[in-house]
Amino acid sequence: MFKDPIFRDRVAIITGGGTGLGRAFALRFSELGARVVLASRSADHLEPACAEIRGRGGEALAAPTDVRVPEQVENMVRRTLDQYGRLDILINNAAGNFLCPAEKLSYNGWRSVIDIVLNGAFNCTRAALEPMKKQNYGRILNILATYASGASPGTVHSCAAKAGVLAMTRTLAVEWARYNIHVNAVAPGSFPTEGASSRLMLAPGAAERALRRIPVGRVGRHEELANLVAYLCSDYADYINGESVTIDGGVSWNHPSFEWENV
Ligand code: NAP
Repeated sequence: MFKDPIFRDRVAIITGGGTGLGRAFALRFSELGARVVLASRSADHLEPACAEIRGRGGEALAAPTDVRVPEQVENMVRRTLDQYGRLDILINNAAGNFLCPAEKLSYNGWRSVIDIVLNGAFNCTRAALEPMKKQNYGRILNILATYASGASPGTVHSCAAKAGVLAMTRTLAVEWARYNIHVNAVAPGSFPTEGASSRLMLAPGAAERALRRIPVGRVGRHEELANLVAYLCSDYADYINGESVTIDGGVSWNHPSFEWENV
């Protein structure tokens, strides 16, 4: 999709960068010239992803971090600056989620998802501000879900957290544009990963039924999402700020009132 190494000299932190979609972003950003810092709790997730990037000739740093803990997040940013001298891009991708109707959801279950997704995204964003402000350059990209601007029966905790991150995206896009810091988001539909499938697709046949609702007839490919994220963090998207881009094969609009397919 991109001819040039659009992220040459750029440094990107990707939270949750050792697994699933975060790993796909890290590989793509590295291919496009970025030096990447992968941050999540488990070094066992981060080290293999970093090794893969280095094996392909890229530069990667593993920074074990719990995004819920501001001191650890500040340390993640400090390590990035020590190693690479700057911080250009932050991708808030780390998340936790599980299927649980609200009437069965414990206070603790609610709190833990809000803490990772909403508070974690704020902690990382807040810690990235000072270096980005000093550079007069920053691109922050939040990974939402299509339900961030709708509803998600069965995962109210994640829905509320992602909606909060969407509100943060729009608000900080206005507050921080004066520092040349742009804040955008993507709202993915179905991009199967081990994490998402094991936590959310629990009912027998759920994945097949979900697939049937997607108008384009397939789930998303990781590289399609990674290319969108890369575009939004690149100079090609300089006039996009405070936006959330949905990438879901059209499923968000598929709320059929009628059985029209066989008419
Ligand atoms: P995943 O592989 O389970 O990714 C979640 C990541 O978050 C893991 O790498 C995990 O690493 C990290 N994490 C969890 N708690 C953390 C904490 N307290 N501090 C730091 N890192 C933490 O799932 P995924 O499917 O790739 O999801 C990635 C993002 O895409 C999420 O924001 C998700 O909501 C969003 N999304 C995914 C889909 C999809 O279809 N896959 C659809 C819509 C939105 P550790 O365990 O090492 O901490």
